[in-house]
Amino acid sequence: MQYISTRGNPDRKRFCEILLEGLAPDGGLYLPVAYPQVDAALLAALRRVYHEQGYAALAFEILSLYIDDIPAEDLRALCAKTYTAEVFGTGEIVPLRHLQEGVWIEALSNGPTLAFKDMAMQLLGNLFEYELARRGEEINILGATSGDTGSAAEHAMRGKKGVRVFMTSPFGRMSPFQQAQMFSLQDANIYNIAIRGVFDDCQDIVKAVSNDLEFKRKYKIGTVNSINWARLLAQVVYYFAGYIQATDNDQQKVSFAVPSGNFGNVCAGHVARQMGLPIDKLVVATNENDVLDEFFRTGVYRVRGTADTHETSSPSMDISKASNFERFVFDLLGRDGARTKALFGEGLSQTGRFDLSADPAFSQAASRYGFVSGRSTHANRLDTIRRTFDQHGMVIDTHTADGLKVALEHLSPGVPMVVLETALPIKFAATVVEALGREPDRPPQFEGIEALPKRVLVMDADVAGVKAIIERECA
Ligand SMILES: *Cc1c(COP(=O)(O)O)cnc(C)c1O
Repeated sequence: MQYISTRGNPDRKRFCEILLEGLAPDGGLYLPVAYPQVDAALLAALRRVYHEQGYAALAFEILSLYIDDIPAEDLRALCAKTYTAEVFGTGEIVPLRHLQEGVWIEALSNGPTLAFKDMAMQLLGNLFEYELARRGEEINILGATSGDTGSAAEHAMRGKKGVRVFMTSPFGRMSPFQQAQMFSLQDANIYNIAIRGVFDDCQDIVKAVSNDLEFKRKYKIGTVNSINWARLLAQVVYYFAGYIQATDNDQQKVSFAVPSGNFGNVCAGHVARQMGLPIDKLVVATNENDVLDEFFRTGVYRVRGTADTHETSSPSMDISKASNFERFVFDLLGRDGARTKALFGEGLSQTGRFDLSADPAFSQAASRYGFVSGRSTHANRLDTIRRTFDQHGMVIDTHTADGLKVALEHLSPGVPMVVLETALPIKFAATVVEALGREPDRPPQFEGIEALPKRVLVMDADVAGVKAIIERECA
């Protein structure tokens, strides 16, 4: 399988070449030259593999369709090492829970950091270690986080040979639980850097360091953000696992509702659907930061400014632009790299928007690609959390509540709706308490983590200071 950029650069690359890269050199995102097709026979075979051998074996089968530069037995071993009951809490890895007539919750949040990002990041950690060892190289991952991404990355990379993680976060602005998840890690290859400032200050530092090309090359600076193709690919697997669990034959269709921010999760659903998985609708659920809902309703994509980006009670969906969205638009425009480049390149940085409402392609977002959308507010979240508890005895987190709220607006008779659970409620306890008047359950392994010793360096928003830490640790 070869990979191309969404912005039309003619170069083609293989999986392991793009594994450790971020953006393509032309600023685009990588996609396979074509989506491998899952016909009836293959889907039936995948169903058998999942039932007889489990999630890791299913992951191997799907990943092998996209990865031909890792020997099959090595890839199988990497999947087996990643998707274990020990790491993900259950042997099923992503069990479906029945909520109400026609509606299911797919549990994606029982990994080490209790958010769905573990599903992909845990695999990425093992792939990075494997590929770096094969090349005899090292990487220094530099990131900025306001919560879920950073802790998922640290828990995936801890103790991995050849990898160091330098993770900046805004000092004092994450929940005590999220801080504890990151700062209690004592692994020598994990560096927590709390910046006196806001999340944007952290992101600016990462950009400034990455823009120093000499420093970047010398210290092999890399990232693990959601535009990484391997992360997206790992997520495709749980759409298959959700489909297989929600159906008993391959003629049925299933819809998925996805709490969305950077469009990484639902983009994996798009890939699964393009492969031929019988998905009816892909329901994009946003919070008050409704960049994506606005696009799917109107055809206008409008990047929000800082003043227009709201801090909400589903903070992992608080985005001003959706960094994976370009992948879908590339497909929507018939894979026209030049047009994609015109829309997302200079056009977007100059005007902050584009408008496809008059383009015939836009109507296909729903008719041909199955996308529908909706948004929810803080009041909706409280209401959804309350009703889900009162009617079904189930406590859900704020992001999953956004997904469920919008899912219920798009039900079709006879088509199971699978809502992706993107975090456990304990991560966002304050809002759950506001809704239910009680603390959400805390998994036993997280008892008392706020009191553990912390390993974190606090500093001002200072690019040179962060560079100095990297230089010192790599010396
Ligand atoms: C990251 C995250 C999301 C958003 O996922 P995207 O892939 O950015 O669309 C939703 N919910 C939770 C809990 C997350 O951590």
